[in-house]
Amino acid sequence: MPSNHISTVALEKAYLKGQHKIPVLRGVEISAKRGEFLSVVGQSGSGKSTLLHLMGLLDSPTVGEVLFNGERIDDLPNKTRDVLRNRVFGFIFQFYHLLPELSVLENVLAPLMIRHPMLTYWKRKRQYKDAAQSILDQVGLGHRLKHRPSELSGGEMQRAAIARALISEPEILLADEPTGNLDTSTGQEIMSLLKKLNDETNLTILMVTHDNAIANQADRIVRLSEGRIETLAEAA
Ligand code: ADP
Ligand code: MG
Repeated sequence: MPSNHISTVALEKAYLKGQHKIPVLRGVEISAKRGEFLSVVGQSGSGKSTLLHLMGLLDSPTVGEVLFNGERIDDLPNKTRDVLRNRVFGFIFQFYHLLPELSVLENVLAPLMIRHPMLTYWKRKRQYKDAAQSILDQVGLGHRLKHRPSELSGGEMQRAAIARALISEPEILLADEPTGNLDTSTGQEIMSLLKKLNDETNLTILMVTHDNAIANQADRIVRLSEGRIETLAEAA
């Protein structure tokens, strides 16, 4: 049996509130196969963002494990975790988190600029720009390269954020309420784009949302409730 692309074992996370430990995740077992589009649905405050942060190595669990290709990754040294976070995972968020002073093209190039020494970046600048241009074409934003985020619609901002996530060629896209700030039809366009990327590039997508209609569009849905995963029906 092929191992899971990304999974967790008995994952727990508690936050300290004064003297009290507040449990948020209480033994989450979740797994996605390579190329799967999995959604996690749950109410606000159920721990969806917490779960994505743990799986993407943005935070550490209190107890339990995160596995990538069947190997534990949450307990690796910080530097290794940094490399994995930047190379394996792409992140998109409800509020896009674009840098307002930069153009769309510069926002997409920013992860490469941060990652590489200045000289390396400059030597490869033409190649990186071509890559960014091609990804922006792929997400339907090839005509907005020089625009600032403030000059874009919400759907365009999310497309720019998706392009920025894709520039590092991630294997796994972690999407935190990617349509949460968009009207229904624009949200639908973003879902279509995510489905297209999943189909065409074999990108594994793990999306969390409170919206059942959005969650239903993934290959498979699970529910996060009371700090644990309940399995729901397979999508057709
Ligand atoms: P969701 O994304 O499903 O809305 P979150 O994962 O953001 O849920 O939060 C789950 C619970 O954990 C909430 O009660 C929230 O207040 C709490 N929480 C989240 N992050 C922190 C933090 N850094 N410190 C303390 N409590 C937190
Ligand atoms: Mg959240």
